[in-house]
Amino acid sequence: MVAELVPRTLELAQQHQLRVTRVTVRNQRSRWGSCSARGTISLNWRLIQTPLFVRDYIILHELMHLREMNHSARYWRCVEEVCPDYRTAEAWLKANHGLLR
Ligand SMILES: [Zn+2]
Repeated sequence: MVAELVPRTLELAQQHQLRVTRVTVRNQRSRWGSCSARGTISLNWRLIQTPLFVRDYIILHELMHLREMNHSARYWRCVEEVCPDYRTAEAWLKANHGLLR
């Protein structure tokens, strides 16, 4: 459910002691989510069409950008720490990229 995306994001943020300013759910054509330097997380409503582990991965991916605002090796180590099977989620997203259209 779309309504679950925001509370789930806040729950995961709290679990990892990250402060989120705002969570918005939007209709995005080209990406699953984004994170601003001000702490706003935007999520694509289409996440409700993905398996739960993929949804959580996207949320964690954006949350980890609050630690590292880039895709450096250090960033991916943060991701792996909180989401050890993130590669499986990435593979799922690649195989299902048609969902974004
Ligand atoms: Zn990213």
